[in-house]
Amino acid sequence: RSEETQTEDYLFKIVLIGDSAVGKSNLLARFARDEFYPNSKSTIGVEFQTQKLDINGKEVKAQIWDTAGQERFRAVTSAYYRGAVGALLVYDISRRLTFENIGRWLNELQTHSDMNVVTILVGNKSDLKDAREVTTAEGKSLAEAQGLFFIETSALDSSNVTAAFQTVVKEIYNILS
Ligand code: GDP
Ligand code: MG
Repeated sequence: RSEETQTEDYLFKIVLIGDSAVGKSNLLARFARDEFYPNSKSTIGVEFQTQKLDINGKEVKAQIWDTAGQERFRAVTSAYYRGAVGALLVYDISRRLTFENIGRWLNELQTHSDMNVVTILVGNKSDLKDAREVTTAEGKSLAEAQGLFFIETSALDSSNVTAAFQTVVKEIYNILS
């Protein structure tokens, strides 16, 4: 491509973090491949997946990293966070403990990242209405207190999955462009 026709390329590294089994891998599978794994025990082995998004008519690539199950051993490495400009901080609305652990993950993120990482708090498994242990208001309120975006998603029924990733990518784009 010549200099004149060449468009700017954007590649943003985004990390998925949160307790084991909150649905991180399935959020990525749903977003990138429109797939869902009902019985995924651990990670469906990708390190990261690159996905194109259209932001204000510009093609933006999101390189989304999945933990590969490291979080079970509290061993998410600094390499995982390195260079990240966005993060999805995920809990499971049907398991209160995963919400209570959000503070820890936020600390870990802030410790390992040298820049301001655009972060969205994601309450996943919104389809599990009868098993809900964390209200939407509680999620919203924590996000407000910590200066995070907030959304509830379901990787199972697809609700808000694209919106969750899009919110982060759009904000990063707005800041960097
Ligand atoms: P990870 O450890 O955070 O990567 O979690 P996984 O993506 O492996 O999901 C853990 C379990 O939760 C799997 O059995 C998934 O099928 C299930 N799961 C993930 N997302 C959802 C969701 O939105 N709703 C429901 N009902 N189950 C989900
Ligand atoms: Mg996983």
